[in-house]
Amino acid sequence: MFRCQLCQSVVPAGTRSTKVILVTREKTYGERGGGGRDAARGGFRKRGGGGRRNASPKKNYDKGGQGTEIVREAMACPRCAEDHQRKLDQEAAAVAIANETVE
Ligand SMILES: [Zn+2]
Repeated sequence: MFRCQLCQSVVPAGTRSTKVILVTREKTYGERGGGGRDAARGGFRKRGGGGRRNASPKKNYDKGGQGTEIVREAMACPRCAEDHQRKLDQEAAAVAIANETVE
């Protein structure tokens, strides 16, 4: 049982909750990697002779890029989730039409 965060009604037990994404934003990810996470996990670390410690191999290297970041999401009842999805579809369709008319 949970409370729908969109319509505030209590959803009976057994009803599947749906996570809906309310707000997203474009995000540009910088490059990262080089073993940051491995090092945090206390992964293997070679003892080098040099003064500098080299991070672990570049297996987790991520050159970054662009993506969408979820800013806010909510637990919704199936009905709200459906409404929300329909709204998104309409918006997407509106954008598509707008893009088509723009020359
Ligand atoms: Zn709801």
